[in-house]
Amino acid sequence: MIFGSSVTGTVHYFFNWGKNSIFVIRFMYIMNIKKAEFIISNTNPAKCPQDGRREYAFIGRSNVGKSSLINMLAGKKGLAMTSSTPGKTQLINHFLINDEWYIVDLPGYGYAQRGKKGREKIQEIIDAYLNEREALTCLFLLLDCRHEPQKIDLEFIMRLGEEEIPFSIIFTKIDKISSSKLKENIEKYKTKLMETWEELPPIFITSSERKTGREELLNYIENINKEL
Ligand code: GDP
Repeated sequence: MIFGSSVTGTVHYFFNWGKNSIFVIRFMYIMNIKKAEFIISNTNPAKCPQDGRREYAFIGRSNVGKSSLINMLAGKKGLAMTSSTPGKTQLINHFLINDEWYIVDLPGYGYAQRGKKGREKIQEIIDAYLNEREALTCLFLLLDCRHEPQKIDLEFIMRLGEEEIPFSIIFTKIDKISSSKLKENIEKYKTKLMETWEELPPIFITSSERKTGREELLNYIENINKEL
């Protein structure tokens, strides 16, 4: 038996019985989330935890499925407040995972019902966090896979590039469309991004309903944590 491992956290066992018979058995090992706890909410990055632990932040337009995704990753329903929660706040929320690293739930941007002043306030909180937060290791930008490339998201991505903020893209709610439509929409985004970017960021596809993408995202985070 030969044993191999890849960066995605996939372990391959190659069984070689005889000349032409190699069987490959593939196991995904997933980071075990033993503990996920809410630590603090605030609007001021200076008041965020100062313990130097790495953090992975999640951002996107309101209703993109951010809270559901955080709960799915952490394996804990109700950890992040979903849109159906009365009084959902627009704060920077820190969740400590396995006492080792943080998931950060950032406010959703571009919510029309909030009015111009409200949107500007949220933008200030987001900007302050992105510009000041040294512990930020990767920003996950969430996009609803059902939509064509949206101006507000493309502008946000441009700013991330200008400010050299490391980010990845997550297409959410993939259970809501067919795989051919998903492929088509992702291609449209890629084409749009390639107009201004030489290289595409890592791209993930997820469904919180079906837990799709959980292994890939947790392994991605684990691999970064190991390298740092
Ligand atoms: P947020 O405002 O970005 O935090 O979005 P929520 O997590 O509150 O989700 C907004 C709505 O989309 C809720 O009604 C969720 O139940 C729904 N939703 C979120 N993720 C998924 C998903 O992966 N699949 C489906 N079918 N619905 C989802």
